[in-house]
Amino acid sequence: MSTLAPRRTRYDASRAEIGEILTDQPRFRVDQLWKGLYEQLAEPSDLTTLPKALRAKLDTDLPAALTTVVERVSDNGDTVKYLFELEGGSRIETVLMLYPDRVTVCVSSQAGCAMGCGFCATGQAGFTRQLTTGEIVEQVVRAGRKAREMDRRLANVVFMGMGEPLANEPAVWSAVERINNDIGLGARHLTVSTVGVVPGIKKLTEWPMQVNLAVSLHAANDDLRNEMVPINRRYPLAMLMDTCADYLLAKGRRLSFEWALIDGVNDRDSDARELAALCRNLPLAAHVNIIPLNPTPGYLTRGTTLARVHEFRDRLDALGVNATVRRNRGTDIDAACGQLAAGQPVIPITLGRRSGTSDSQP
Ligand code: SAH
Ligand code: SF4
Repeated sequence: MSTLAPRRTRYDASRAEIGEILTDQPRFRVDQLWKGLYEQLAEPSDLTTLPKALRAKLDTDLPAALTTVVERVSDNGDTVKYLFELEGGSRIETVLMLYPDRVTVCVSSQAGCAMGCGFCATGQAGFTRQLTTGEIVEQVVRAGRKAREMDRRLANVVFMGMGEPLANEPAVWSAVERINNDIGLGARHLTVSTVGVVPGIKKLTEWPMQVNLAVSLHAANDDLRNEMVPINRRYPLAMLMDTCADYLLAKGRRLSFEWALIDGVNDRDSDARELAALCRNLPLAAHVNIIPLNPTPGYLTRGTTLARVHEFRDRLDALGVNATVRRNRGTDIDAACGQLAAGQPVIPITLGRRSGTSDSQP
């Protein structure tokens, strides 16, 4: 069972709740504090426009949700990984990535994940609990502050850390609203990645907010996808692709598919052909992000070699599918995709190599 999430941490409190804490203060203080927290990304103790006694009171009445356990920097300082502890002791990870042209933070939406994808370190560790809105928003604030210290401006948020965002919809949607309305990051700069939770994609389709959607596909036939991504048994490919088609028609926005390439499992010519066929059936072009599989302790199958990763990309290209290879960030600090398990123990799982119909596999 999940433990109860904390209430009214700094970024969980609504304006009304902050108003209650500030009842003995002039009205404008609520706005001052709100702007300080969200626009200036400030600690209450650093808001020198507030009276000193009030700052001290806020430290206890509006506590931070995240305690830093580790802050580790890699790739010449352009990747910063945080391990945060939450109330109750669960740990989550947040990764700040600084590129020449943009700064992106990858946030967690759950402590652990219940979806059980075998190749993913978070999936191997299992589910602990849902994150609250404030716990998600605070990850963005902490990353934004760090970026500012490095003379950069955080502009993008991807929900690609620990957890399945669409299995924690209420907290994720309200975090998206706060990140957009209060912190001021454009909805088009926010990306929710899902393993294919159909009801959540439908909700996003109906929602006026223009956030980006990434679907972690990894397999283009039900047999293989059932094995790699167990939730496929509940939301099989035909249903998922119909939902994606509706999303594309309603939003007119680009959809991306994530494809973690695993040696001999989903990197065959037949996989490229099946994926291309799925993409062709969509009303608008989808973009495929190929992610070379990152090693995780609990999964014995290897990632595809880099040469084959590029071959797979070229094969998709020849089949008319727009695909890019995503650079691994922070593999040396376990901060890359699917490695975010916060040091929890994992049980090895293996997925058999497949002979399939590939003409390049023995
Ligand atoms: N639960 C969501 C978001 C978090 S996972 C989802 O699955 O989409 C973020 C991305 O990392 C997903 O595309 C996921 O498939 C990918 N991923 C998981 N394990 C990986 C690994 N070992 N190597 C590379 N990518 C991985
Ligand atoms: Fe959960 Fe995504 Fe990992 Fe699957 S890939 S176990 S959905 S975090």
